[in-house]
Amino acid sequence: MKIHTFFNLKIYVCAEMKKSKLALHWQILLGMFVGIILSLLLVQFSWGKTFVIDWIKPFGNIFINSLKLIAVPLILASLIKGVSDLRDISKLSKMGLKTIGLYLITTVFAVSIGLIVVNVFNPGKLIEEKTKLELLSSYQGDAQSKISIAESQKSQGPLKALEEIVPSNIIKAASDNGNMLQVIFFAVFFGIGLILIPQDKAKPVKDFFDGLNEVILKLIDLIMMLAPFGVFALMAALVAESPSIDLFKALGVYGFTVIIGLFIMVIFYLAIVYVFTKKSPKFFMNGILPAQLLAFSTSSSAATLPVTMERVEEHLGVDKEVSSFVLPIGATINMDGTSLYQAVAAVFIAQALGMELSFTAQLGIIVTATLASIGSAAVPGAGMVMLVIVLAQAGIPEAGLALIFAIDRPLDMCRTTINITGDAAVAMIIAKSEGLLHSPHVKEWDDDYKSSSI
Ligand code: ASP
Repeated sequence: MKIHTFFNLKIYVCAEMKKSKLALHWQILLGMFVGIILSLLLVQFSWGKTFVIDWIKPFGNIFINSLKLIAVPLILASLIKGVSDLRDISKLSKMGLKTIGLYLITTVFAVSIGLIVVNVFNPGKLIEEKTKLELLSSYQGDAQSKISIAESQKSQGPLKALEEIVPSNIIKAASDNGNMLQVIFFAVFFGIGLILIPQDKAKPVKDFFDGLNEVILKLIDLIMMLAPFGVFALMAALVAESPSIDLFKALGVYGFTVIIGLFIMVIFYLAIVYVFTKKSPKFFMNGILPAQLLAFSTSSSAATLPVTMERVEEHLGVDKEVSSFVLPIGATINMDGTSLYQAVAAVFIAQALGMELSFTAQLGIIVTATLASIGSAAVPGAGMVMLVIVLAQAGIPEAGLALIFAIDRPLDMCRTTINITGDAAVAMIIAKSEGLLHSPHVKEWDDDYKSSSI
């Protein structure tokens, strides 16, 4: 009886939100805002922090879990369907090369922007000696744990990453959300098999994955109805668990430098989308905004992937053939925000520790940050682990990681937002070049609600 009442209440809340004319991104922003304010109020009480962690945070985790839950089935269904629709393998390899090429270009551009802004603002030279020592001693332990994770990755051979793309067992690969590239490999391989067999045999298999894809898209719709509540819980937990405001201030110029760089990237994406697809910045931003807000709240491109795909297909007009291929790969290897952050962070640490980085050392950062961002997993904090490799390559002491720890989470939120924006921009450009950019299915989120049967 109780469960029934609760379920009715949930449906009622969703239905009320459906009726309200508030667009989804506003609802999510409202959820974030209320979460931050409420948590700021609650932590004033001695019991506040525990209350937020015990009673609010779990709902944020449930929300993230539900998104991750559908990531693997979504990649499988949409990629198998997408590849098998191509009919012709040369089209696949052409699109693959274009995708990887564009991803590399945008990442190298991002690292270069990072190096330019950090050399203009010189945040490491502005940090006070006292703050520096305080940070180094407070975050020594945390930094060490990231360094050891990176060490274990570094000790593997140079071709290890390539070797790991091919799974030896698909069930095992699909059971771990960290193995996205393996799932992508299997889906592409399976899709190629479907292209090569007689059409009458392939049809039922394709229809199955097509249907599965529809179901998953519907699940994303349902999850997104709860997004404002999910981000409310995530933001409340984040505020309750964040370190003191003083540390944020001490690292303000560094944080500001990263954010300026990320902002330049947004302008870059809007410009390339406009130049190559003739779609206006407003169109692009309106389409992708809910996914950006979700990336911001979850700090995970992988958890955001289902929503990025839904927005890019339904609201930006990218054909499934392109999005199902370009976006899962992008979520895994294209991290422009992360690479930019790694460049800024590396130079910031060097400056703060009184090291002068030569021009050649900075050029080296372009290469290592590009590779490190490709290797970063699409989960919170992964960019910082891979930063260890960038530091080591440039001869910067890894212990300097302790300097940037305090402010890493907020910056992770911002760089993840840029990571998924870059994927969406590239997906649009590839779609346009393949003649697969259409008019979007829905213009407003409200239309989704109207067509939803809940
Ligand atoms: N959190 C980022 C992402 O998932 C990766 C990182 O930079 O830590 O895209």
